[in-house]
Amino acid sequence: MRSQRTINKIVFIEGFGLHTGMFCRVVLRPAPQDNGIIFHRVDKNETIRSHIGAVTETSFAVTIGTNNAKIRTIEHLLSALAALGIDNIIIEVEGPEIPILDGSAAGFVDIIYEAGIKEQDRRMPYIKILKPVILENGESSIMAFPYDGRKISFRMHFKNHFLGEQTFSIDIDKESFVRDIAPARTFGFLRDVEYLRGLGLAKGGSLENAVVFSDTEVLNKSGLRFQDECVRHKILDSIGDFSLIGFPIYGHIIAEKSGHTTNINFLIELLTNTDSWEVMTDDPKPTKPIFSYSYI
Ligand SMILES: [Zn+2]
Repeated sequence: MRSQRTINKIVFIEGFGLHTGMFCRVVLRPAPQDNGIIFHRVDKNETIRSHIGAVTETSFAVTIGTNNAKIRTIEHLLSALAALGIDNIIIEVEGPEIPILDGSAAGFVDIIYEAGIKEQDRRMPYIKILKPVILENGESSIMAFPYDGRKISFRMHFKNHFLGEQTFSIDIDKESFVRDIAPARTFGFLRDVEYLRGLGLAKGGSLENAVVFSDTEVLNKSGLRFQDECVRHKILDSIGDFSLIGFPIYGHIIAEKSGHTTNINFLIELLTNTDSWEVMTDDPKPTKPIFSYSYI
């Protein structure tokens, strides 16, 4: 069982939100052990725990918060934190959305490495999958199986013939994430851009922060970072979404065509099936309950 981790020093990152188009500044602060990941919407003076119980919306991006103060598009930052094993951190956000940067998690990885990673004294509990858990929802499905490690496999089939079917599988650790997943950008289709704008979304979207496809080609002049960049980005999103359970999940998660909504529903399914997993901890007397079941 590994030690809990935080960052070594305060760092900040800023940029425009993908959906709101608003400029947003984020300050990352070290936090004590057992703190968990806490967002603080400073302009509204509201504190929000990074947890599925705080999720308010899952269409096109994950939003957490309260009626007063929401924070959109948290998944890429959470993905970088989860993959680099940062368990305790305060994320101060000035504005309604985490910056989209270049559409990937690479900028968040860079800023975490710039801050430095600090090992803490206490061990990090984790969830160990004991029996299969399966969630099926129309064409989407997610399954979790016992596995000695943290593995995600993902399959997409795009109606777009140019993209076709993409599959990718990864054992998550710092090196594999930084190399194979973090650089994969958000993507979208030209035909959906007007629809999203009609919903008041993607206001900050551009070829600078998303890969955009027509039916026959990539519109970004620089092309793709990976031939299968889309499915890699779906894994990036999933790692961020699954971290909202509050602990690393040790198991093999196999997802097919899932998105944020299915990912969050899967976490609820997993938590509801209490005989399918156990929390591994070396603390015989936890000082506080490991889970809050308030989300059910
Ligand atoms: Zn994404």
